[in-house]
Amino acid sequence: MSQKLVIFFGPPGAGKGTQAERYASSKSFAHVSTGVMLRDHVENKTELGLIAKEVLDSGKLVSDELVIAMLKERLDYEDASEGAVLDGFPRTIPQAKSLDSLVDNNEIVAIVLFEVNKKELIDRVLLRGRADDNETVIEERIKIYEEEIGPLLDHYKEKNIIHINGVGDVGSIYKELSNSLSKFL
Ligand code: AMP
Repeated sequence: MSQKLVIFFGPPGAGKGTQAERYASSKSFAHVSTGVMLRDHVENKTELGLIAKEVLDSGKLVSDELVIAMLKERLDYEDASEGAVLDGFPRTIPQAKSLDSLVDNNEIVAIVLFEVNKKELIDRVLLRGRADDNETVIEERIKIYEEEIGPLLDHYKEKNIIHINGVGDVGSIYKELSNSLSKFL
């Protein structure tokens, strides 16, 4: 059986992690967040974590090579056999291209784009208080997101792209999300 993939895009603080987690568990898909995986490495002080820590703290992106290897391995886990929600990957065109070479084109079923205005994002992220959630770093992360998202959406222009307004209560956003995705999954 083929593995179905849904890609969630959205700026930091858009709430896509929460929605990805919930949606993935409703479908028995894996929730694959490269950010969570990297933070786990940092916390456990693995070799990879020691390399990645400084980059994560600065808000910049970790090397394509490193995240591609990590993702490739993750998609082979048993819990991803039916499908996966990709949260935070791909972030660059080389990452998108390597994903294309890893899976069949028709396995990428839909793209979800969470939209939240910048002021709301900054307010939310400052409340969250993660190590990379201070005001300077969040500005940097939003800037990087804004630079990457255009080319990525262009790369996936033949795909079903679902726009979700990420402002509102978690439950209503989830309803809208699962309704929209039910057309494709
Ligand atoms: P996130 O939790 O998705 O916001 O990711 C947190 C941080 O992890 C980012 O600011 C990057 O430093 C790093 N990161 C996560 N995913 C990727 C990726 N696909 N490519 C490069 N860096 C990533």
